[in-house]
Amino acid sequence: MPDGSAPATVILQKSCGATSPPSNVGNPHIATLSAAFQCSQRSSSPGAVTAVTAGADTVRSRPAVRPAERLDESSRSATVAPMPDNVLTRLRVKPGSNFSVKRRNPDERFGWDKDAAKAELAQLHVRIDALQQRLAAQRTHSLLVVLQAMDACGKDGTIRSVFGAMNPAGVKVHSFKAPAGSETDHDFLWRVHNVVPARGEIAVWNRSHYEDVLVVRVKGLLPKHQWERRYRHIREFERLLVDEGTRIAKINLNVSFVEQGLRLQDRIDDPRERWKFRIGDLDDRKLWPEYMKAYDQAICETSTEHSPWYVVPGNRKWVRNLAVAKILLHELQQLDPQLPPDDPAIAGLHVV
Ligand code: ADP
Repeated sequence: MPDGSAPATVILQKSCGATSPPSNVGNPHIATLSAAFQCSQRSSSPGAVTAVTAGADTVRSRPAVRPAERLDESSRSATVAPMPDNVLTRLRVKPGSNFSVKRRNPDERFGWDKDAAKAELAQLHVRIDALQQRLAAQRTHSLLVVLQAMDACGKDGTIRSVFGAMNPAGVKVHSFKAPAGSETDHDFLWRVHNVVPARGEIAVWNRSHYEDVLVVRVKGLLPKHQWERRYRHIREFERLLVDEGTRIAKINLNVSFVEQGLRLQDRIDDPRERWKFRIGDLDDRKLWPEYMKAYDQAICETSTEHSPWYVVPGNRKWVRNLAVAKILLHELQQLDPQLPPDDPAIAGLHVV
């Protein structure tokens, strides 16, 4: 894996079914991870969520320090087995390659054992959390994670299971629906640029600007000459973010057509899950081959050294979670966040 020169942002996002923005949040696409996590804990009662930012109170409050939190990332590394495989290389889409999702197996398990994978995920959570704390403390770089997948293919579950382990004060989730209101009065990147992660933050986008070369293409919402030039716009936009200190990782959750059908059926059959189902999901399902073609081209056109795509097998949720956690850990490690230097004025101070 080449060393990125800039920090990454991972975009994964989905709201908990909230249709109205929280009253104290200016941007309706913003939700915190903690909110997403809470929603997941009570999926039968989706509700509006509130954005939270770290402020003076957060800094002043004394954290309950668990033993594991006292360890720094390097000492954790010594206690957790290093990745024994080349999974990240296999997940990544090589820039300039002739990628096709058909050549990736959504049932892939990389030889992993389910119980061991769950145990490893718990270990990765601890390491990811430690790195995120440093990222927030250093406040020089950011990470953007983009999550793209078809309906019912695991975006919400991934956010909850992988990103929910971090301090929600430093992680923001943004869900992108069909553009509305002032969004339609601007260029397609306007609304996403508005919610890129600030220095020290991780942003997860549940759907993203890639919808503007996916659904827009598949449903013919714009003529070809208009969506086709967007690949270049996207590459240049992402280059800008990277140059300015954001690291980017884009993740496609690759679920099979059959598995999607089962999951949609589950949503219809389970009253607690039914709120997630839209009749329109079936229309999109009918367009599956067209979507796959659009994904292939979007990924080929925009997987670059500085802003790579990872295609994660999604039929097994435990494989998906571990694979995404490995990507997240890798991206944070590449940022290598460090605690800021001590203020000399603090040395030796005694609080009375
Ligand atoms: P999700 O499936 O992400 O949980 P929804 O069921 O509300 O959320 O679906 C969001 C819808 O918004 C999707 O059908 C998606 O294709 C659509 N959408 C997102 N971005 C755009 C866009 N730029 N143009 C048109 N449709 C979009």
